[in-house]
Amino acid sequence: MRGRLLIDEPMARHVSWRAGGRAARAYVPADLADLRAFLAALPATEPVLFVGLGSNLLVRDGGFRGTVILTHGALKEVRMDAGRIYAEAGVAAPKLARFAARHGYQGAEFLAGIPGTVGGALAMNAGCYGAETWQLVDEVLTLDRRGTLRRRNPNDFEIGYRHVALRGAPSGAASEEWFVAAWFTARAGEGAAAQQRIKALLEKRIATQPLNLPNAGSVFRNPPGDFAARLIEACGLKGRRIGGAQVSGKHANFIVNLGQATAADIEALIELVQATVAGETGITLEPEVRIVGEKT
Ligand SMILES: Cc1cc2nc3c(=O)[nH]c(=O)nc-3n(C[C@H](O)[C@H](O)[C@H](O)COP(=O)(O)OP(=O)(O)OC[C@H]3O[C@@H](n4cnc5c(N)ncnc54)[C@H](O)[C@@H]3O)c2cc1C
Repeated sequence: MRGRLLIDEPMARHVSWRAGGRAARAYVPADLADLRAFLAALPATEPVLFVGLGSNLLVRDGGFRGTVILTHGALKEVRMDAGRIYAEAGVAAPKLARFAARHGYQGAEFLAGIPGTVGGALAMNAGCYGAETWQLVDEVLTLDRRGTLRRRNPNDFEIGYRHVALRGAPSGAASEEWFVAAWFTARAGEGAAAQQRIKALLEKRIATQPLNLPNAGSVFRNPPGDFAARLIEACGLKGRRIGGAQVSGKHANFIVNLGQATAADIEALIELVQATVAGETGITLEPEVRIVGEKT
């Protein structure tokens, strides 16, 4: 092993909510070859969780009893590859957006506003302003726990709104095939104009999102034909607080950590919002954020 193995690692360091429990083990691979060897050597029963920038993730206070693979800063290659953009899973999505713009491509600008990794964007089909990650994907490289690499194309996956699943995989089961890289095809265009759009998009985000406090972006998926933020605000929940967690006054679909929030505070507030919105409107909001690990 050439990477770094961390024992009893506080996951608050690795998630954007800056809250939550520890991982029994966390591994920062040296590179893709090292990650293949590491996964192949793990016991078959060891739970594995891939984490990018943790910007859509809550690890409960009792922690994750398995091995977390930390891809950010590890799988970090991004380059042109015969007219396509090749990016490894740990590359930050905004870095990919800027790389595409610098190389004269357009269509990837929206990724500048998504503070996760390429791997997280692929897993979530992250998107905003009418664009989604998989619209740009030509091919992906996946890795399974035996260390086998596979090149797959979008037809191998069911792809929807914040939803990606390998076709034929048991529904609801955690995927045992993870994204380690992808080839993207953005449209050839005017690089300077793309860079201008990135700038405008970031200004809009700063104006509308509570980026000064730890958060995980939109907590709930938008229900068909409506907006989670609108429903939460209409139920008078802006500013509602449990412990150190608060429904943002700036954007009702964000929950911010006021400083000392536990994962339990955040999860309790998620449940309170769900129950209140369901009680008042009959609509059940589904979380977009992923919640893993054990309760204390
Ligand atoms: C301020 C803010 C704004 C945001 N705005 C948006 C937005 O506009 N649109 C949007 O869609 N999201 C948004 N998000 C949410 C988040 O940034 C995205 O979901 C992002 O794609 C998550 O990437 P990540 O690397 O942080 O993933 P993580 O949070 O680390 O992981 C998320 C999920 O993906 C899985 N995963 C991570 N890496 C891999 C991999 N390599 N292979 C397989 N599975 C993997 C994890 O196991 C987990 O289930 C926002 C978040 C914040 C904090």
